[in-house]
Amino acid sequence: MLLETQISLKPNHTLDHLFDANTKEEYAEYIEKTVQYLKSFLENDQFYSGASPEELRMFKNDISVESGDTLTIDETLQKIKTVFLDHAISFHHSNYVAHLNCPLALPALVGDLIASTVNTAVETWDQSTTATLIEQEMIRWICDLMNLPSQADGVFTSGGTQSNFKAILMARDHYAFTHYGINLKENGWSDQVSRFRIFCSDKAHFSTKKNAALLGMGYDAVIPVATDDKMKMDSNALVQAIEKEKQLGNIPIAIVATAGTTDFGSFDPLQTISKIAREYDIWFHVDGAYGGCYVLTDTHRHLLNGIEHADSITIDFHKTLFQPVCSSAFLVRDTRHFKYVSYYADYLNPLEHRDEEQPNLIEKSIQTTRRFDALKLWFTLKVTGKENLGFFLEKVHHLAVEVYESIKEDTHFEVAHKPELSTLVFRFKTPGIQDDKTLNAINLHIKNTLFNSGQASVASTKLNGNIYLKFTLLNPRNRKENLLDIITMIKDQGIQYYTSNN
Ligand SMILES: *Cc1c(COP(=O)(O)O)cnc(C)c1O
Repeated sequence: MLLETQISLKPNHTLDHLFDANTKEEYAEYIEKTVQYLKSFLENDQFYSGASPEELRMFKNDISVESGDTLTIDETLQKIKTVFLDHAISFHHSNYVAHLNCPLALPALVGDLIASTVNTAVETWDQSTTATLIEQEMIRWICDLMNLPSQADGVFTSGGTQSNFKAILMARDHYAFTHYGINLKENGWSDQVSRFRIFCSDKAHFSTKKNAALLGMGYDAVIPVATDDKMKMDSNALVQAIEKEKQLGNIPIAIVATAGTTDFGSFDPLQTISKIAREYDIWFHVDGAYGGCYVLTDTHRHLLNGIEHADSITIDFHKTLFQPVCSSAFLVRDTRHFKYVSYYADYLNPLEHRDEEQPNLIEKSIQTTRRFDALKLWFTLKVTGKENLGFFLEKVHHLAVEVYESIKEDTHFEVAHKPELSTLVFRFKTPGIQDDKTLNAINLHIKNTLFNSGQASVASTKLNGNIYLKFTLLNPRNRKENLLDIITMIKDQGIQYYTSNN
């Protein structure tokens, strides 16, 4: 019998596209060519081309991978320029002030290139070697900055949403285990869990609700707590909410405090909330996805006082430390709590081979294959340094305050808050209009018009059911004059819309 081991080698079959010792020159050539295209991306003069969705859909054939013919790298780079780079949103552009996307630190890009190219997977020691030590060093660094005790630990995650997920999972499983001896990880659902309740402010990130749902507890398990006029959790309202749930027969298990709310940058009173959590003997999680990195500043460090009492912390370096996505960490007060997510797989990290000297980070992660994201941060700290990063953050906060001071008395604007971090929520108004419905329509029109023309990207959000505009400032190179130009565009659009519709 003939074994069919023969593979057919057609003329266009090539091994030259694999990264290995044979292709060093090709590799260098590819990267150098790519760098030229990325340099030209930086020369785009608007934050966005302003192409309409219909115009972008016209690239359908260029995007399609169905046609059998392959292209050269030059042809493909040219194509991706036309299809994508010419229409990509530039987060580094000074007229991009919409979401929590930061401009990138150059050293982070070097770290990311190395991480992608070597392609280290950090889940086990035998795949990662010193990458494990570098991740652990980054975790130790941030735990120390947060003044967590020596048994604290952490792991890099895909983002704040996943970090918050781990917090709720741990809080839930820890409560079930310590109060009822229930092992949810091994035995699954238990009736008591249906009565578990988590408290966060009504300005907290949506991921707490979403995660509660993903964990089978449902949105109803999350109790929103009222905020004060500075958009911070009202601690009296928190105690009342906890008492009320207890009276209803429900079981408070965790408080999620926010250090830097997504819309308002407000810090919940961590010190007071930590005491309330201790009093009720429930988990205290701090969502510092946005504000956590402000621990590097002199201006805001004190707002994090109390975080040292947290049972767990979320911090996003891809929000406020000039890192490419993903770069985020989940920190936990006591490393033993990782037992709620750990799993020992025969082929990866068998329990009997557990060795403190060669740790397997998979024991702390809900991901298996995981990127070496810590390297970008390591490069940034080594080259840019934490003082500079702290300065960047102080700078963008200062910009937000300057814009606030400039428009707070302006009769065409209503500001919702004084910036505590680097966002500013406000809306266009005009003395002739009282009703919110019209104001909502105008503000939405302003946002869409500026975006569609490629002039500026401003975010919108809702406050008390009404549409507001939002600046999220993360670019330390931005200037007050430039931001006031955007304010003028907003005003002009608003007045124009109002006069042409009346
Ligand atoms: C952005 C944000 C999150 C979610 O983080 P991702 O990295 O986008 O998953 C969670 N909490 C707060 C307060 C945030 O601002």
